[in-house]
Amino acid sequence: MSRVVGVLALQGAFEAHQHVLRDLGVETVQVRTSADLELVDALVMPGGESTTMSHLLQTSGLFDAIDARLKQGMPVFGTCAGMILLAKVVLDGRSDQRSFGAIDIDVKRNAYGRQIDSFETDIALDGLVDDFHAVFIRAPQVSRIGEDVTVLARHKEDVVLARQGSVMVASFHPELTNDARIHSMFIGLLQEV
Ligand code: GLN
Repeated sequence: MSRVVGVLALQGAFEAHQHVLRDLGVETVQVRTSADLELVDALVMPGGESTTMSHLLQTSGLFDAIDARLKQGMPVFGTCAGMILLAKVVLDGRSDQRSFGAIDIDVKRNAYGRQIDSFETDIALDGLVDDFHAVFIRAPQVSRIGEDVTVLARHKEDVVLARQGSVMVASFHPELTNDARIHSMFIGLLQEV
């Protein structure tokens, strides 16, 4: 059965995600309204600025619509700011910033500090042979993970790729590397639901 993957397109690096998904032969649509959301079977939340996205999610009415779909089990993949939006607790967020609490992790925004707020490194992915070149841009750091969360990759001690049920999160930007393996993992989740 063909599935449509939406890419939240309120702000941020959503087009790069669409390119990777299209290269995998997946149909994608940009999601800006609740009507757009009805067209999709799964959703990618891109990197960008989580405070801005949180604000636009509220004003567009999408926050509650997405929340309802997440509660029904819609697969979702959040990268960087998208991971912040999906976390249970956001540390160093704006006081009015909201998150979906779809995955049992706490994250600290911009935790890697000013000097290294952007860096690239190769990380080992659980179950895959070759390392993945990961690009971190003002990345959030996972400060707590719940026991139902599966860790898929770490950078040093830090969890950088994780999954709970049909919710997947990365603190880096897999859409910026010419390597579709992580997006393929997410598409694999769609076959499970
Ligand atoms: N620091 C940004 C935030 O708080 C996330 C950065 C990114 O998505 N590249 O939303």
